[in-house]
Amino acid sequence: MWKGGPNSFFRLLFLVAGSLFQCLVRAHSTDSLRTDTVSALVMYGDNTLLEGGEALSDERLDAVLDSLCTMDDPPADLLRDLLLFRRIRAMEGSEIISLIDSLFELDTVPYALVNEINLYAAQMPTHGDVSGGRHLAWEQASLHPFDGEYGPWVTTNPVCYARTPAPEDSLLLVQLVDGPSNCGFTMPIEGVLTSRFGWRDGRPHNGIDIDLEVWDPVRSAFPGVVRFSGFYGNYGRLVVVRHYNGLETFYAHLHRLKVSAGDVVDAGDVIGLGGSSGRSTGSHLHFEVRYKGTPIDPSRLIDLSNGELLCEVLVLKGTRYSYAAYPKGTRFHTVRKGDHLYAIAESYGTTVKDLCALNGISRRSILRVGQQLLIADAASR
Ligand SMILES: [Zn+2]
Repeated sequence: MWKGGPNSFFRLLFLVAGSLFQCLVRAHSTDSLRTDTVSALVMYGDNTLLEGGEALSDERLDAVLDSLCTMDDPPADLLRDLLLFRRIRAMEGSEIISLIDSLFELDTVPYALVNEINLYAAQMPTHGDVSGGRHLAWEQASLHPFDGEYGPWVTTNPVCYARTPAPEDSLLLVQLVDGPSNCGFTMPIEGVLTSRFGWRDGRPHNGIDIDLEVWDPVRSAFPGVVRFSGFYGNYGRLVVVRHYNGLETFYAHLHRLKVSAGDVVDAGDVIGLGGSSGRSTGSHLHFEVRYKGTPIDPSRLIDLSNGELLCEVLVLKGTRYSYAAYPKGTRFHTVRKGDHLYAIAESYGTTVKDLCALNGISRRSILRVGQQLLIADAASR
């Protein structure tokens, strides 16, 4: 499973460790001594893990652990995570996947971290690998699209599918739009993006938020069949559409529902009117993209700066509980010391604007050494 060399392996460790440290900095921010310790470790990691690709040595890690243990009240979480860090350095690829799995046992699953690790562990399949992936065939003729993949058609529960990619879902090619059938894509609503997919206020945010006015029409992103339309807890009034491309999209906090389960909708058809129902502060659309219940970052398929699709074919690389999603033809760039967006964009013949759109970052975002950036293949656009 693991194909990277030793250097890329240690960059993965940095991703894991860096995210753990970020969590720790937050967790310990009320205790200045611990914060100082954590800050020192972050600096230590920056200087030692990443300089020249050299890894933090076992001896130095042991020294840090020893020094922590001499504290009157050693930070138990930090100790535990450093011990974990020491353990995962020796892991095989399959064990890293198990580590990702263990993150799902947390009370709140850190999807952003999991996605980042997934992307890394996936090690961007070569074009040959991708062509060996399973194409999901467009299923417009079906009464219930993709019931062969999803199982029973459930109209009473929007999130009834196990988030467990099956072995046959290890590499999927999703044909987002079907050109010959004139089936397209429509951004559900034009508006200001107020929240991205990922981690927010210590909780996973499984979709994106787009500002709207109450009564604004909300449109189906792709053609398909409505699977759920009703009130669902924090989501408020929610519509779920199963699309002919195999994905499901969720439209939450609606003020009015305009469709019922079983309705056939085209891309751009109004499925509801925007609002603030459920757990919502202020009117907005909460929009999710899922495959078999697993949330996928919408910015991996939609350019959120202009509401256009990034690609016709989306690659889903499955691990046990989640997917790494990226447009077909995408390459990875691992950020090195001294890299900046303009130079990276230029070296791949793309633009900073496209780079930002594909990676869900802004021009002012700070790049981390070891971070994976998706690079669109010009020919696939
Ligand atoms: Zn939201």
